[in-house]
Amino acid sequence: ADAFNAAVAAGKPLNAFLVETPEHAIAAAEEADRGRASGELRPLSGVPMGIKDLFCTAGYQTTAASHILEGFVPTYESTITAKLFGAGVGMLGKLNLDQFAMGSSNETSAFGNVISPWRRSDGGNAPLAPGGSSGGSSSAVAARMAPAATGTDTGGSIRQPAAFTGISGIKPTYGRCSRWGVVAFASSLDQAGPMARDVRDCAILLETMSGFDPKDSTSLDLPVPQWEAGLSGDLRGKKVGIPKEYRVDGMPAEIEALWQQGIAWAKDAGAEIVEVSLPHTQYALPTYYIIAPAEASSNLARYDGVRYGQRDLPDGANLQDMYAATRAAGFGGEVKRRILIGTYVLSAGFYDAYYTKAQKVRALIARDFERAFEQCDVLLTPTAPSAAFALGEKSADPLAMYLNDVFTVPASLAGLPAMSVPAGLDKQGLPLGLQIIGKPLDEQGVLNAGLAIE
Ligand code: GLN
Repeated sequence: ADAFNAAVAAGKPLNAFLVETPEHAIAAAEEADRGRASGELRPLSGVPMGIKDLFCTAGYQTTAASHILEGFVPTYESTITAKLFGAGVGMLGKLNLDQFAMGSSNETSAFGNVISPWRRSDGGNAPLAPGGSSGGSSSAVAARMAPAATGTDTGGSIRQPAAFTGISGIKPTYGRCSRWGVVAFASSLDQAGPMARDVRDCAILLETMSGFDPKDSTSLDLPVPQWEAGLSGDLRGKKVGIPKEYRVDGMPAEIEALWQQGIAWAKDAGAEIVEVSLPHTQYALPTYYIIAPAEASSNLARYDGVRYGQRDLPDGANLQDMYAATRAAGFGGEVKRRILIGTYVLSAGFYDAYYTKAQKVRALIARDFERAFEQCDVLLTPTAPSAAFALGEKSADPLAMYLNDVFTVPASLAGLPAMSVPAGLDKQGLPLGLQIIGKPLDEQGVLNAGLAIE
């Protein structure tokens, strides 16, 4: 609350930007002017973007919204930001996020929550969550402070904030975008992607962001398709699958109605609708909340007060004391919860019962998708089980917060491309999103179905 109030006092009512870097965006705009004069424009010359503060940016502090990385100024550039800047993009600033990308509401940031620019129409003026973890990105794009932003998605962090704020966002197939220089959360799930106003902008940006990178061992060595040129909202001859297990108990009638509307739009675009089954859907959330914390507990072991950012060295402290003091003060509560869960499920006594089991269930979830895609080209589902909730509404109850990810984590576990597109407003005038999930490497199919629906 203190950090948020300080941001408001500093004239940043949404607290979307942690750092503003106008000089970077201006330099890119001036370069674009020169390029226009000399006829040497690059694909994204002068385009200003916000960069989620999970991407390392050379010479600019990168914090992952955690105190433990305060003061960390990378000497290197993430592959994604290098590609964007190389294409002419200028950086408006580093965007707030849930701490280490752990969260669904942006409330776990050490630098104060982000606020969505949207308000309920019923007069309830309670500030709303912009979604998470890419909540600075969603809020900035929705408020038109940036035409586009980078996001990352481990279990829904591009798609759910896009849905909450009425914008578009795509998580490509695992391996399309290099993870090099992106602060790691759960390495087998993390993927970067663009968040923008519409599907076309996402297609344009994803083309620049994708591509093989020898510095990421899980990067796919494949050519990047021309997704923008291939855009078509014509779904004739395509089959859109509706997974029946996503009709979860307690889903608000408005979400069900939105889904039916999406089905009608897909039909109007010429698609055939087929019901499909993903029988292991109910196990996706518990599987994700074992695997993601397990990988996080390993990845976050590097923040030891020696190599990066903050160090707490109490008087007379030995090395162990220094580790303990640094990590106690540096990590936020949600990050500590994940490290504890992850350490537990990886411990010798419980490894087989939790981690090995979760990996087996992950394989079953991936196989469900393979079978479903024998019957259809893309899947259509709601992105989240509700519209944006009020700040504070779920922050005391981690399980209620985790339930928000029920529709997004399955595609993450299977490594599939998935996108959220704005699909209308609820009775309170709040945006709702629909999710399209595609076959591995079929970003084109996802984007095209998104274009038909947005
Ligand atoms: N909300 C999910 C989590 O807290 C997903 C976050 C993400 O995709 N980075 O883990």
